[in-house]
Amino acid sequence: MSETKNAAPAMFCNQCEMSTPGGCGSDGQDIGTCLKDATLARLQDIMLYGVKGLSAYREHARELGADTRTVDDVISETLYFTMTNVNFDFDRHIAQLMKLGSAGVQVMDLLSDGHTNQLGIPTPVSVSQNRAEGKAILVSGHNLDMLHKLLQATEGRGVNIYTHSEMLPAHAYPELRKFTHLKGNIGKAWFDQDELFQKWPGALVVNTNCIVPEKKKTDYFDRLFTYKVTGAAGATQILDDDFEPLIRKALELPEISDFDSAETLVTGHHYKTVLGLAPQILEAVNDGRIRQFFVIAGCDAPGNAGNYFREMAESLPEDCVIVTSSCGKFRFNDIDFGTVPGTVIPRYLDLGQCNDSNGAVHIALALSEATSIPVNELPVAIVLSWMEQKAVIILLALFSLGIKNIYLGPKPPQFVNEAIFDFLVETFDLHLTGEASDDLANLLLERQVA
Ligand code: SF4
Ligand code: SF4
Repeated sequence: MSETKNAAPAMFCNQCEMSTPGGCGSDGQDIGTCLKDATLARLQDIMLYGVKGLSAYREHARELGADTRTVDDVISETLYFTMTNVNFDFDRHIAQLMKLGSAGVQVMDLLSDGHTNQLGIPTPVSVSQNRAEGKAILVSGHNLDMLHKLLQATEGRGVNIYTHSEMLPAHAYPELRKFTHLKGNIGKAWFDQDELFQKWPGALVVNTNCIVPEKKKTDYFDRLFTYKVTGAAGATQILDDDFEPLIRKALELPEISDFDSAETLVTGHHYKTVLGLAPQILEAVNDGRIRQFFVIAGCDAPGNAGNYFREMAESLPEDCVIVTSSCGKFRFNDIDFGTVPGTVIPRYLDLGQCNDSNGAVHIALALSEATSIPVNELPVAIVLSWMEQKAVIILLALFSLGIKNIYLGPKPPQFVNEAIFDFLVETFDLHLTGEASDDLANLLLERQVA
């Protein structure tokens, strides 16, 4: 598996008394004292990473009142599975990972339904980008429930609210966008926080993961607030949904200046909205006006490697539709992709946040049912970017549904060894991304009509 270029130690485990000094694997051993080998150790690491991602979505689903008991049971069972001397069977590890993935499907559905039940079904909207005014709070993270509460608390207080990164899809929800002081979006994916937050003179709040610790040692932490589990030394934690300290800070700080761009971004193609376009989409697929859907979605991370996804999106022919979600879309969501020629169907569909990745599956299943074509034979290509453990549970969720032929990048996961990678290739036809032009040549179907 030279393709994965995995330079990490074969295994590392220090969880029990039988550990060798420094941890089993720390001296290059590929088997622990208990006889857990490197492959099982890594499969258990993947379980733990999947549980982390699942737990994040479970927390948000619970905030919206969802019954997560089945998911909770899978979380505790999976943690138990990784304890010392519980299981040494490769196939049972895979089965547990698929069970975890199924719980991922379930939790994303719970979260999606929680959002649409509480906030309405999103509709497409054009959002102002990098334009701001007045006293203001910039909200980063994924927590739409928190944003809803903040919009209620700030109504009529003379404070404007702006979104950052994964909060962009908030603008499409009817119960959020009815607040006229929810103004627009600022910045791109999470990792521009350090530079952006230095420049933003107003108050700041990060309500979930993907907070960037201050690097430049200047002073925006005195105007940075965190919510619930999120935290950073020097920032102020919001307790018991009391937003008054944050609002007072926003009112003390200067009005926003130097954010006067005329850019806009489009969002709001939740799968429940896209399914409303099903008859037109089906007709366009059947008569060849839509050749193929490209799901280009996932997390973004610092560096140039993510430019792969822009190159892929930019290179697609006009009869291809991009389906996206998560913060990876900021690599290409400034591009106007227009509509599929001869139709009113947008070529760019933003399903929403990372937890809305289930939307691509719902759309594919609806297409499969309407056309009687098996899901894995639909004209759909899947190219995913991954960054952290929410992406791990999303990938496990797709595997648990039997979705194959996924291209994953931009870098190989370091927690996958050769045995696991070979299994994923054989079972799920997983590919690591290469050059965007080569991958596109492999993925693009022949055009059906002249
Ligand atoms: S569980 Fe096994 S591999 Fe892990 S520290 Fe104990 S003996 Fe070593
Ligand atoms: S999509 Fe992933 S990397 Fe991006 S903000 Fe969400 S969790 Fe973080």
